Amino acid sequence: MSDFEYRVGLGHDTHRLGPDRPLILGGVRVDYDRGLVGHSDADVLLHAVTDALLGAAALGDIGELFPDTDPANKDLDSRIFLEAALTRVRQLGWEPVNLDCTLFAQRPKLSGYKPTIAQHLAQLLGLPTDCVNIKAKTGEKVGPIGREEAMSADAIVLLRRRSVARD
Ligand code: MG
Repeated sequence: MSDFEYRVGLGHDTHRLGPDRPLILGGVRVDYDRGLVGHSDADVLLHAVTDALLGAAALGDIGELFPDTDPANKDLDSRIFLEAALTRVRQLGWEPVNLDCTLFAQRPKLSGYKPTIAQHLAQLLGLPTDCVNIKAKTGEKVGPIGREEAMSADAIVLLRRRSVARD
């Protein structure tokens, strides 16, 4: 009988909204008249998922891996951050089991995008689609989310690996 060990990791991120930027959430282009502002492509969801992966494996955070002072990271596709984190996690023997996320955005309405984003994240993590869940919330028109100044994302991931045999 195989024994597994498990770790959970939590990720959170916020980016400001601004003009003349594409809106990319979970690696998926979302139709909207504004986008998220950041050094990379500012994909708030992928940043939260990347931090959740790193957190579960006790590997620090996305800022340590990809400093926003590094010109090489400017406008970078955030899938590169996720893939780099996943490689490090796998090097320690860990594999994702499932992912749950919440996106916070007053607009646009994200319900129609949730299945596409979930499918894309599942593909990036090598998971079946029924192991990835995306939820979307508005800011109830209050605070920076509700005033459409920013978007946020939360992510939680479970990792497992085979335990080293013990006598
Ligand atoms: Mg970020």
